[in-house]
Amino acid sequence: MPRVHNWQIGREMSFPYEDAHPKHQFAFVFNINRCIACQTCTMACKSTWTFGRGQEHMWWNNVETKPFGGYPRFWDVKLLSMLEQLNPGKQVWDAAGSGGSKAPYGRFDGKTVFEAAEGFIDETGPKRALGYLPTDEEWDAPNVFEDHATTGGTALPNGATLRDNKVWYFYLARLCNHCSYPACLAACPRQAIYKRPDDGVVLIDQSRCNGYQKCVEACPYKKAIYRAATGTSEKCVACYPRLEGKDPLLSPSGEPAETRCMTSCVGKIRLQGLVRLGDDGQWAHDPTNPLYYLVRERKIALPLYPQFGTEPNGYYIPPRWVPRPYLEQMFGPGVQAAIDQYSCPDRELLAVMQLFRAAQQIIFRFAVEKGPKVAEIPVTMPDGSTKVQEVFNDTVLGFNKFDKEVVRITVQEPVFERPAQHANSI
Ligand code: SF4
Ligand code: SF4
Ligand code: SF4
Repeated sequence: MPRVHNWQIGREMSFPYEDAHPKHQFAFVFNINRCIACQTCTMACKSTWTFGRGQEHMWWNNVETKPFGGYPRFWDVKLLSMLEQLNPGKQVWDAAGSGGSKAPYGRFDGKTVFEAAEGFIDETGPKRALGYLPTDEEWDAPNVFEDHATTGGTALPNGATLRDNKVWYFYLARLCNHCSYPACLAACPRQAIYKRPDDGVVLIDQSRCNGYQKCVEACPYKKAIYRAATGTSEKCVACYPRLEGKDPLLSPSGEPAETRCMTSCVGKIRLQGLVRLGDDGQWAHDPTNPLYYLVRERKIALPLYPQFGTEPNGYYIPPRWVPRPYLEQMFGPGVQAAIDQYSCPDRELLAVMQLFRAAQQIIFRFAVEKGPKVAEIPVTMPDGSTKVQEVFNDTVLGFNKFDKEVVRITVQEPVFERPAQHANSI
């Protein structure tokens, strides 16, 4: 099987096809600390793409409450357990090997879904990725366990339990990660799934799909979904007309625009873009691209379950209040460093964070204009120490694909006082 380099796990791995990289890659950063589970993103996708017959269970974008929620139910726990059973005690990272752009989080020494499937044969030949087909019951409701917290409490010798406040949960918004090494594509015996050379979007050719559901079984994130009414599988299409600048309202001159689920986000947790790839498939050095800046330069946003091996292109700023071992299982070894930065962001990072949901066109470049210092705020860091955060009222500018300014926003939100004579009018 060909060998490819997966920078998220810091090493080469087996993949059924030779490396073939797009020029740009669709990617996104979600700030979990801000998501309020309003499901506006979910409904924006549903009302655009999956309102047809036989698509009732299709939620290409969903928001689930972790640790118990999931759609389909328990998707991640199931796959993690399968991998652990196959490779007991060895699904581990060597974070000490961190370094360079080819292994920024260290090295994952366990088995990816591709490696775990080696040696398995099914009715269509060698199995390409370890996975499972969810049951109908697991697909039957998208939001079971919403707002369910872990139970806290301290057991007393007499068997009673004292409540304490160590309960936690968080919202995980998910869609297809348009992976660099897609397991859905790897598993399809009809070669019906392809990755677009311009933007890395992964699509299912409906005319080639025979509905074998190998993609549904193989996608570790369970984002390829079967539609019995048509006998084919479907998935997120990354709102590709918007990426191509074909929405006349958002893109009067053909500028690439963000997708429906991104632009509708009420909590302003989302920033989507296109990152430039070099000939070797690595992210080209591009420190003024906001996604490059957050993911590669600052490492504040981390991939979801990088150990699965598909090199997902969705990145998350982890939530500050969640126990670290849980987060490290989900986002890899970079969690604590990301949370430390987010807890007390420096001047430039704070400015770039203002770009979330500030424009509908994709931002390809940012610049920061310096402003005056407006505050000094004491911050308690995760380790209990105190830092002083200096806040500057800098202005951050965002530029579209044609280098035209599309957003200009200050760190400090401006306040406008309504004149007294209009105090109660709108
Ligand atoms: S998330 Fe799943 S469906 Fe999407 S590209 Fe990756 S493997 Fe395929
Ligand atoms: S990118 Fe478009 S198709 Fe994909 S989940 Fe978001 S709204 Fe749906
Ligand atoms: S719209 Fe934004 S804040 Fe609301 S659930 Fe979706 S990701 Fe979270």
